[in-house]
Amino acid sequence: MRSASLATLPLLALLALAPPLRASPPPALHATPARVTILYDAFGTAPGAIQDWGFAALIEYDGRRILFDTGDNAAIFEKNVRALHVDLRRLDFAIISHRHGDHVAGLSYLLRVNPNVKIYAPRENFGVFGSSLPGTFFRTDPTLPKAMRYFDGAPPAQLSFGSAWPEAHFTLIDTLTEVAPGVTLVSTVSRTPGTLELRELSLVIRTPTGALIVVGCSHPGIEAILQAAAVVTPQVALIVGGLHWVTAADSTIARLSTALHDSWHVRQIGPGHCTGEPGFAALQKQFGVAYLYAGLGTVLQRAAADSAEWESRPPSAPD
Ligand SMILES: [Zn+2]
Ligand SMILES: [Zn+2]
Repeated sequence: MRSASLATLPLLALLALAPPLRASPPPALHATPARVTILYDAFGTAPGAIQDWGFAALIEYDGRRILFDTGDNAAIFEKNVRALHVDLRRLDFAIISHRHGDHVAGLSYLLRVNPNVKIYAPRENFGVFGSSLPGTFFRTDPTLPKAMRYFDGAPPAQLSFGSAWPEAHFTLIDTLTEVAPGVTLVSTVSRTPGTLELRELSLVIRTPTGALIVVGCSHPGIEAILQAAAVVTPQVALIVGGLHWVTAADSTIARLSTALHDSWHVRQIGPGHCTGEPGFAALQKQFGVAYLYAGLGTVLQRAAADSAEWESRPPSAPD
């Protein structure tokens, strides 16, 4: 296309500055569901769904539909998605929290039903989601003969590294990023031996009563994630997902449960996945009625349109 002529430029500039025309006011919050549906986990029952180790959830909020993780097995993910009547063709975007197999393996099913979906994933050098580096990232030795030099001594400006899902439309994130109004991805890095330097994305949605936070495994530590999320809003309305206390000592679980309740003032909690059985027990004791059961097929939703509280609903009966 030819570039705009000088005469049309001021008009284009004015159009760019003008507020977008709005035919009707935005829909009221209560007109759209505010809920989190657990699509993949190793506890809980839903008619037609299968338990397996891993995590996936559909988040519906403020008219948006967001898939968070894809579980551990594409066939089981497909079965659960169908059993819970979730249409993955209708998504605003998907998020992969981290590269572990129990969160990414369902990607092949997602890409089959929705090949063009935008997928946010952690940026990791030479990671499975693909990456790129400047062609100058390596040290050079110009005294070497051409045949011993990378790219004959003339590397491209940018080097791209392959993805395990080359057809996927990944957007790689390594810093706190607001991906839609009120919807932020928090990027944290694990310092825990075993998952050292693993990057993880957590979803933070601003609600009138604080943040709805969805976590995959919390490998960097739930407190590190909350600290990063506090930039968005210091209040935490609800945490859903895995806290990775699955092998933690009772003393660690007790300390962190108390901290979430007493120091971070987390209002409600719906733990799942790698939180662990002793973790479920400790959090249930700590949070009482503010503990929301979040097994496979559960729907966490606002108790009423204008309510500050979320509630846990069992999976609905099949049609
Ligand atoms: Zn996991
Ligand atoms: Zn993990």
